Amino acid sequence: MLDSCIFCKIANGAIPSKTIYEDEDFRVILDLGPATKGHALILPKEHSANLYELPDETASKVMVLAKKMATKMTEKLSCDGFNIVQNNGEVAGQTVMHYHLHLIPRYQDDGQKILWKPTEVSQEELEQVKNSII
Ligand code: AMP
Ligand code: ZN
Repeated sequence: MLDSCIFCKIANGAIPSKTIYEDEDFRVILDLGPATKGHALILPKEHSANLYELPDETASKVMVLAKKMATKMTEKLSCDGFNIVQNNGEVAGQTVMHYHLHLIPRYQDDGQKILWKPTEVSQEELEQVKNSII
């Protein structure tokens, strides 16, 4: 646990939160600035700043928990869909540097915009990008 990290404190119970699930590895809390009703955050109890630092074992567990939470929340909140979002780095919108996964219930006409603006790309550019990654 990192003393300077607010999500370490919340995940480990040192700061109170609206907890909707807890096990030995994770705490799931309601976001204080919700995009929609039920917006929640999965917080690993062990500190990792972001996805790059996340242990493989935690990474493999987090999406299983996301599925479990989304399934339960869809039933309880009667939402119409879900966005699962995870920001890495300031440029990507990360503001708290403790890995967390956003669970955002979506409702018809909820007025939120979580999607990106598509751009145009040529087949040649796609080929270059592909070759730069593989
Ligand atoms: P991100 O921008 O991906 O780093 O997300 C940080 C999220 O944490 C935002 O949605 C904030 O509303 C939320 N947040 C920040 N502080 C707290 C807190 N003390 N309790 C609950 N949610 C928080
Ligand atoms: Zn932390």
